[in-house]
Amino acid sequence: MEYFPFVTTAGRMSKFKKAMRIIDANEVRYEHVTQRRCSFCAATSEDPLRQCSVCKSVRYCDEKCQLEDYGVRHKRECGRFVTPPLTRAFLTQSTGNDTIYPKHPVFAKGYHDGVGCWVSHEGRPDFGLQAFATNTWATPETWRKTYSSRVTSYTPLAEKYNALRPNLLTLAVVVQNRRKDKKPIVVFAGRTRVVTKPGADHAVTQAKSDLEDITSYEEEGGSVAALRVAEDPLYRCPRLAIKNVAGVEFQADHPPLSVVNEPHGIVFLAPGEYVVYNVQFRVGDGNKCSTDVDALIHLRALSFVWQLAEDYVPWVQERAEHIRLNPRECPAPKDVGPPPPETLIPFDLPIVFAYYLDAIKEGEPSTWRATTARNTPRPL
Ligand SMILES: [Zn+2]
Ligand SMILES: [Zn+2]
Repeated sequence: MEYFPFVTTAGRMSKFKKAMRIIDANEVRYEHVTQRRCSFCAATSEDPLRQCSVCKSVRYCDEKCQLEDYGVRHKRECGRFVTPPLTRAFLTQSTGNDTIYPKHPVFAKGYHDGVGCWVSHEGRPDFGLQAFATNTWATPETWRKTYSSRVTSYTPLAEKYNALRPNLLTLAVVVQNRRKDKKPIVVFAGRTRVVTKPGADHAVTQAKSDLEDITSYEEEGGSVAALRVAEDPLYRCPRLAIKNVAGVEFQADHPPLSVVNEPHGIVFLAPGEYVVYNVQFRVGDGNKCSTDVDALIHLRALSFVWQLAEDYVPWVQERAEHIRLNPRECPAPKDVGPPPPETLIPFDLPIVFAYYLDAIKEGEPSTWRATTARNTPRPL
């Protein structure tokens, strides 16, 4: 199954859009639920709940619920990175009976050395890819303000880089530090890459230009391409946005100290902390590959890069001073020592297929059941 021709069927789309609006309207309620509902017995409370101190992804009424849950379930999921942290910035569950689909079904999850990663889409309701020249993309506020005024000077660039055609796949990514040694880490969101399936490289490299950072290599089954986060032709920065740091919505005007470099998405994570970010990859020319699912079915994995903070402290200090003196500059971060290893997170293609298939057919909640059953087991 290569394509989903019904993705563009208007009648079905309008039903799906309606379903997505319901999800949006429920976000506020979802926040309340995630903050106030016991992960074990599902009782809600107006008092603050106790969190698991290791993963901070679950909350409980009291010690009794926590101990019981640990025995029947959480002991396994806490260490195995089954659940992403509870946050309204990453909605993996349906929010109620009138909501059919989770906003962020988990399409990929994995971990490396005590650091977990969960991946979902952050696309438009019609699953269409985005164009560079859209100012609705969640670029940091400081850039967005100037974006529309600079669009006129953008025209030659727009033509050169096909910036008006939809070719960007947007993913939502959560990275959390659950290291047992309690050491802080640094995440380099700007170095996130997606890796194609063997033989599928051409499908997602049609729009390549001199801005694209693509590594190609041969594997059994055909050539593979690894695409770095798309670079914006106007700002010469990675197309990424930090959405949430340690449970607090990111605001460019008041960035938390843990954000070392906003344009390149370099973030410190203390033990238990997480970051939610959106990244865009240039995967199509708006013709053959024009929807999220067209792109996702050609991808095999997402890779992200992190390193122990202690290895980066000297570099970070120098960097922070530079940024303080040159706040408007946006140079690429320089490497210190060997590059940190990439952690490969494979996409769960059956989940991807099921989500897009069911998402079209309003009234069939099997997707979110399948997704939530796999990712957030309910109490027995
Ligand atoms: Zn409880
Ligand atoms: Zn835990």
